[in-house]
Amino acid sequence: MTALQKTLKMISSMTEAELSDLRLYLSQIPEPVSAPSSKEIPVRASREVLGTKSHGSKCYRLEKTKCGKKNCKCVGGDLHGPYWYAYYRDNGKLKCEYIGRRFPLFHPAVVDIAEKLQKKAKKKQDRIAKLLEISGVLRLQSAELRDRLR
Ligand SMILES: [Zn+2]
Repeated sequence: MTALQKTLKMISSMTEAELSDLRLYLSQIPEPVSAPSSKEIPVRASREVLGTKSHGSKCYRLEKTKCGKKNCKCVGGDLHGPYWYAYYRDNGKLKCEYIGRRFPLFHPAVVDIAEKLQKKAKKKQDRIAKLLEISGVLRLQSAELRDRLR
């Protein structure tokens, strides 16, 4: 039985007063915060967006930036970076957090991608194993046919 099934079973035997308490308790659990979509995040005039990905409650964006120094190469359009930034909402306010040139490998978004790639690789391996099996059967059958034709 899942936790939800157990809970539903318990709820069905609750008194009105207990249900009322439960409703109050549930109303205090905040809704999960979803990641802001890249479209909702304004692009600053000094930045250029190269890529985005979302994970959990954060939207990650790869951006090239201007540093603001007057005599820097970036004034002429040769921007710095690219660097990764994480965007998320804190009490409804959009926040930006600098991550760096590279995504740390243990980062949840990277772990996610790595898992997906692993799954894909496993599928491929399974398919190859199946094809080898089929080709083995075909080889046997063709050898049999050859023997019969002799
Ligand atoms: Zn600069």
